[in-house]
Amino acid sequence: HFAVAAAASADSNPAERVTSPSLIRNLAVIAHVDHGKTTLMDRLLRQCGAIVARDRTLDSITLERERGITIASKYTSMIWGTSSLNIVDTPGHADFGGEVERVIGMVDGAVLVVDAGEGPLAQTKFVVAKALKSGIRPILLLNKVDRPSVTEERCGEVESMVFDLFANLGATEEQLDFPVLYASAKEGWASSTFTKAPEGEPTMAPLLDTIVKYVPPPKCDLHAPFQMVVTMMEHDPYFGRILTGRIYSGTVKPGDRVHGIRKKEDTDVSETFNEGKIVKILKKKGVASEVADCAGAGDIVSIAGLAQPYIGNSVASVEVKEALPSVKVDPPTISMT
Ligand code: GDP
Repeated sequence: HFAVAAAASADSNPAERVTSPSLIRNLAVIAHVDHGKTTLMDRLLRQCGAIVARDRTLDSITLERERGITIASKYTSMIWGTSSLNIVDTPGHADFGGEVERVIGMVDGAVLVVDAGEGPLAQTKFVVAKALKSGIRPILLLNKVDRPSVTEERCGEVESMVFDLFANLGATEEQLDFPVLYASAKEGWASSTFTKAPEGEPTMAPLLDTIVKYVPPPKCDLHAPFQMVVTMMEHDPYFGRILTGRIYSGTVKPGDRVHGIRKKEDTDVSETFNEGKIVKILKKKGVASEVADCAGAGDIVSIAGLAQPYIGNSVASVEVKEALPSVKVDPPTISMT
């Protein structure tokens, strides 16, 4: 059921074996604390069959612990129809300045979760500003619509508040024309029209369909040399440093020769370092990490094999000598009020 151009033996062209970029959607979920991000993610994972039941999740967590792979649920991956959705968590506030930029730099879209009772709150303003600045067109999800106090009129007010917030942050006409969905993450449903309780089985399908339709697929070249930017890092007792990021171009498989590339301090000059071999490739399936035999441009993956690259550095095929820009947005210029 995977959106991987299947068949093919291990030595066939990796570009034919990886997920086609046209089927990948990379997005962030942005939410003020308590507005329902965790509940929503859980529902999306269930809907996509990535969590079958509670104990199944616990199973995979136990399994990962046994294999010594640290769980970092900083991003999850799920299959919806033929699409492969990589959903990255964003820290809620500005304290994580650099991390927000890196996360936003990895994605092409975002779901902004707003509690329809509370309305947009200041804490997400910083993240929203970053997303708008990097050209992302967010999808607005008004959550907790099941609450008695949340009326259609109230939702209209909150939509206007979000519109004004976007406008104040310099959003373009396109960004101001955002899709709005109504949801009760708690009850497990989303709807493209206002309702307090949709008919039939609760479903997140309207949100998942909107994501596939509205978030653009990554623009990238599978046939160029392999290049990725490290945006997250963790340590694994077996594999050592695990570097996570979005593949900007090319494909990668275990055994490939790669090196780190960084900018010399305070200059625009790239230097290469730590040449070595890719030992493992890990991809998310739901919240669990799974070993993959190859990965391609547009996808978000983790690699092991190089001990030195750091967050913000590139990892690339040895013929590449120039570092990719580590983030694609400017430093913060907005005030936090
Ligand atoms: P997070 O901090 O954004 O991850 O928020 P959580 O998912 O932990 O939710 C915060 C609280 O809001 C919890 O008590 C949830 O049960 C509750 N909650 C989340 N979604 C909904 C919803 O759609 N309706 C209602 N009534 N409560 C919700």
